[in-house]
Amino acid sequence: MKKVLKNVSFVFLLLKMCFIFGQETVVQKRIIIDVGHGGKDSGAIGVNGIQEKDVVIKIALEILRINEQSKMPLHIYLTRYSDTLISLSDRTKLAKALNADLFVSLHCNHSNNESAVGVEVYTSRKQSTYSKESVYIGYLFEKALSDQIGYKIRGVKFADFQVLRETVGYCPSVLLELGFLSNADESKFFQNSENFVIMAKVLLEGLDKNFSGYGRVGN
Ligand SMILES: [Zn+2]
Repeated sequence: MKKVLKNVSFVFLLLKMCFIFGQETVVQKRIIIDVGHGGKDSGAIGVNGIQEKDVVIKIALEILRINEQSKMPLHIYLTRYSDTLISLSDRTKLAKALNADLFVSLHCNHSNNESAVGVEVYTSRKQSTYSKESVYIGYLFEKALSDQIGYKIRGVKFADFQVLRETVGYCPSVLLELGFLSNADESKFFQNSENFVIMAKVLLEGLDKNFSGYGRVGN
């Protein structure tokens, strides 16, 4: 009888240890939103005078605001929270230091052709184990922006952008070009503050669908 009791308490101890270690080693996924440009680097200037650096920070801060109100907020970090210029290498260093599970860089497009419209996604030309996942995530963002806001899909493309090159070997990594500021309609879209809320909701939903689960074990 004594032996049985001993075995039972040993099993309880094991269960307790599993529970404690389970809690310690499973962490929620971390999303890094890289807010493009900033400070003296305005990025593209819209036909209506709006600046890319202002558009992307407004979208990113709106994503944070909506996320904080959610019952199950995601772990989201920005590379800048105000109008400051951060070097490209500091942006990717931050992603690595924070143990990012996803890196999403926010930008707006510009073309000499004023009729160019739509959303474009870039992922690194450099191949890594995260390349396929990056393309798929990029496609999902484009589809959501097309379905819910009506943007034309311009496709997921490969490029040698520094922020992508330095993160794609580490986690899925995409750069979103959220419409053309050189186009009258697409730059006008960002003159209405309600549209920042709409854009932020679509992007946050996309993040939530794919990244609300549990990520790296033991980190
Ligand atoms: Zn840009």
